[in-house]
Order: sequence, then C-alpha cells, then structure tokens
Amino acid sequence: MPELPEVEGFKQYFNRTSNNKKIVAVTCKTPSLLKNVTPAQAQKILSGHSFETASRRGKFLISPIKNSPYTIVFHFGMTGSLDVAPKNRLSDEDKKYGQLIFIFSDGTALVWINKRKFGRVYLVTDTDEIKTLKTMGPDALAISQKDFLELLNNKKTSVIKTLLMDQSKIAGIGNEYSNEILYQAGVLPQRKIASLSTPERKRIFSCIQKILKKAIALRTSSTNLPNSWLLAHIKVLRDMKCPKNKDHTLVRKTIGGRSAIYCPIDQK
Ligand SMILES: [Zn+2]
Repeated sequence: MPELPEVEGFKQYFNRTSNNKKIVAVTCKTPSLLKNVTPAQAQKILSGHSFETASRRGKFLISPIKNSPYTIVFHFGMTGSLDVAPKNRLSDEDKKYGQLIFIFSDGTALVWINKRKFGRVYLVTDTDEIKTLKTMGPDALAISQKDFLELLNNKKTSVIKTLLMDQSKIAGIGNEYSNEILYQAGVLPQRKIASLSTPERKRIFSCIQKILKKAIALRTSSTNLPNSWLLAHIKVLRDMKCPKNKDHTLVRKTIGGRSAIYCPIDQK
C-alpha cells in the first residue's frame, strides 16, 4: 500500500511530468472512484486548465487547478500509482487499471492507476470538504519530537502500532512502515504506550524520521531495500528472517486488524 514515502515519490513524479501542461480531456473508467463531482463535471472543470505544483499531506497528493477555484486530491488506496506516457502508447497496465486518464495538449497522458479500486480522487473547492484530510494529524515527517512525545502521553492506553497507523493522530505511516519503524526501534508492536520508557519513545520518533527519509531517498535512486530492513526480508527476499540474525524467524500477528510482523527476540 502506498505510504508516505511512496506518495512523496508520486508527488515528485507528478511535479516533474504533469505540471503546467494543458489538460484537453479527462476519461474516467469507474465513476464511483471520483468524489464530489461527476466525470462530466470533472471534464468541464479541468479542460483547458493545468495542474499547479502538488504538495503531499500524509498519504494524500494535492494539486490546485490553475486559474480555477478547484483543487484535485488523489488518494492511492491499496495499490495505486501514477504513470505518464504518450497517450497512444499507454502500457497494458495503464489501459487495464487506469481509472482516471488526463490527456494533455502535448500528446502525453497522466494515468491514475488503481487496480483494486480502493483509491479515490476528489475535486473540491475547499480541501476541508474531505473529512479524512480535515481531521488528519500532523505529517509524520513534520511532527516535532516534543509533539510526538506529547501525543504518546495523551494516548497511554493505545497500542503503539495502532497509534502509528492512526492518520488522525500522525499522518503518512501505514502497516508496512509501522512494522519497519518498530523493528528498527526494537519495540514490540503490541506494546501499550503506557509501558514504553522515555528512551523507547525517543527511539521510535527517531526511527520514524530515519526510515521515512531513507525510504524516500531509496525510491528516488531506485535502489533496493537494504538487507538490514525488515521489509526486505518480507517483500524482496521473502525469507521471513530477522535482518540482525538469520536464526530468528519473524512472527506475523494481527494487531488492530492489520498484519504486524516482528522479531520476537530483538523487539522487546
Ligand atoms: Zn531478531
């Protein structure tokens, strides 16, 4: 699922490929994924206009429409991504799973790919119309250590993994990066916040910053996940071995409805 580092990558890609290009047509394959407007309204609002520089908040990508009161907001759901290609040379994936396609006057197309249809795209005049954006907590890369420690103090009965994934408290972290952050911090995902020591809390904060920044850099350079990361052993090597010790087998357990994966020895 695209989390903060992936959406940051989409933002950079969007700004590199799709800004300031005149939109001439919009096609929508699944109208229910388009929120606040109908496909015909979207076509009318966007035609002749262009996207301004996009920003990111949590897992949302936000771009104002130039010379228009509207802003477009993308959420990528479980499997979303973006692709830009010449409009008559779209890939098979673009054609099959491209739910929204923006055709530009230079002959290229921006494709919002959403295979599993859990994503959504909003066209709004006020981003507060989007409830999850309005109630969203501070971005995980923008929150200060002081505010993070205060957040933990206010949520003593919560489970740490669940809190890290709660977008209304801290935005951008999902299932995969919460697993990585807690592994690198050496903290078991099922721990109640009240049980965490101050050094553990500070370690979690610094791992949030370190892991997310590193993940953004890895995406930019198309470098593979380092073998010292839990995610490499889950997604790439698929050996379910602890990066620190191959004799430790990672454990999978459902916590807060999501699949936590951790090392039962290195995480305390
Ligand atoms: Zn281990």
